[in-house]
Amino acid sequence: MTDLKDVTRPPDWQDDVRQGVRHVRDLAALPLSPAERAAAQEAASRHKVRAPKAYLDLIDWNDPADPIRAQVIPSLGELEETEGELGDPIADHEFSPVPRLTHRHADRVLLFPTYQCAVYCRFCFRKESLTSIGRGYTREALEPALAYIADHSEIREVILTGGDPLSLPDKALAEIFARIEAIPHVRLLRIHTRVPVALPSRITSGLVAALQGRLMITVVTHFNHAREITPATEMACRTMRQAGFVLLNQSVLLKGVNDTVEALEELCRELMYRLGVKPYYLHHGDLARGMAHRRTTIAQGQALVEALRARLSGICNPVYVLDLPEGGGKVPLGPCPIEGRDGESWRIRGQDGAMRTYREIVGE
Ligand SMILES: *Cc1c(COP(=O)(O)O)cnc(C)c1O
Ligand code: SF4
Repeated sequence: MTDLKDVTRPPDWQDDVRQGVRHVRDLAALPLSPAERAAAQEAASRHKVRAPKAYLDLIDWNDPADPIRAQVIPSLGELEETEGELGDPIADHEFSPVPRLTHRHADRVLLFPTYQCAVYCRFCFRKESLTSIGRGYTREALEPALAYIADHSEIREVILTGGDPLSLPDKALAEIFARIEAIPHVRLLRIHTRVPVALPSRITSGLVAALQGRLMITVVTHFNHAREITPATEMACRTMRQAGFVLLNQSVLLKGVNDTVEALEELCRELMYRLGVKPYYLHHGDLARGMAHRRTTIAQGQALVEALRARLSGICNPVYVLDLPEGGGKVPLGPCPIEGRDGESWRIRGQDGAMRTYREIVGE
């Protein structure tokens, strides 16, 4: 836990990075058994390893099943790849007309300013792009993507993702912001990031100042467990809210991390009530390779969100979605309360579980 003194004098985020795990060799400094260390080193040869000190400090090393540890420390399970798993689970590449951009829905595009992250999550669905492309930001690398956006007037939202856009320096963020702001049909800039979770000290006044201007800014954070919500993440979110950003969160449903009603309830409640971050999506596990040990069944996910719906207010509830293979997009998977219809009469299960009838009465 960070004490009050640390909160009033923010730690230098670069120290957080330097004192964290940055290379496979840094795993040697962690309190792992020789067998766990060997497994971690082998798994880290498939998908890079990285975690800032602030995030590692949240791990209870006495618990081998710790939910924070499960997200960032490589383990043997990752080496077990199962037939049917995919290198590009949601077909980012198939829908990429120019490098560093994916365009699947008319009004919005994904823009990849960097393929590097402040933390490498073991379950990442883009981990193979992070390995095979892996490159960081340069102005030149984004030119074709920016020209494409300027040429397509149907694009209203640009989603910075990656990689982690907030792993970039303020100067790069300001440059990207200015280029996108200059395209008149773009209305909103969205940033998908794990930095507020894993490296909250990076959310500085300089960072939010780099993103001020005409565009509406929405930051979609990626908290998966209530233990990730700390005084430091609270301060990072307050800084972003005070800068006028809209804050949403997406979580991935992960076996052994957050696959209980209690874990999800506490996560969603604390996101909204403590951080002011609206739970947006709860993602069902995609088919990233080597992740069978972290996936739940869809039926388990449906039972969880049904229970959440009964326990949490509307604003605290995320939408349970699956991002389909082959670019099918995100579709809601939540249980459907409609039991049937008889002409204009619909039979719908109420929140109390009892059946109700709704008769459609529609004027001329
Ligand atoms: C997830 C995603 C988006 C954003 O979808 P929303 O439902 O608007 O959050 C946009 N484009 C692609 C290709 C995506 O995968
Ligand atoms: S921060 Fe995002 S892109 Fe980077 S490894 Fe984690 S989930 Fe993947």
